[in-house]
Amino acid sequence: MSYELPVPRQGTHTKPFWQGTKEGKLMLPRCLDCNRVHWYPRHICPNCHSMNLEWIEGSGEGTVHTFAVQHMAFGPWAKEAPFVTAYIDLKEGDRMLTVLRGVDPAKPEDIKIGSKVKVEFEQGDDDTFLPFWRVVEA
Ligand SMILES: [Zn+2]
Repeated sequence: MSYELPVPRQGTHTKPFWQGTKEGKLMLPRCLDCNRVHWYPRHICPNCHSMNLEWIEGSGEGTVHTFAVQHMAFGPWAKEAPFVTAYIDLKEGDRMLTVLRGVDPAKPEDIKIGSKVKVEFEQGDDDTFLPFWRVVEA
C-alpha cells in the first residue's frame, strides 16, 4: 500500500529531524544561548536570534493546546475528512501543529484541552516518517 498523503521535502537544516523520525525519535532544535526549544526548525533562534543551535531528543510527550475538527479538506486530504488538527504544547517548550490520531471527529466533546499526548510516526515514502500525536490520557 502506498502512502497517499503529501510527504514534505527534506531540507539540509531539517536533516537531523527526519533522521530522528526514522529511529522513532522526535528531534527538536534548541538554542545554546537562551536554551529555548523552538518548533519549526530554523537557522536562527526565534527568541534571541542566535545561530548557535543544537538538536536534542525530545520526550515525544505533550499536551493538547487547542484543536479543531476539519470537516472539509482539499487535494489528497479530502478523503481523510473529517479529521482533527491540534496544536500540541511540547513538554520541552513551543508548539507543534499536528493531525491528532485516535480521536473521533464526530465527538469533539471527548477531546480535552490539556489532554496528554504522545508522538508516533507513520511511514510516508521510503525515506520519510511523519510525526502524528495520539491522546494517551484525557
Ligand atoms: Zn535563543
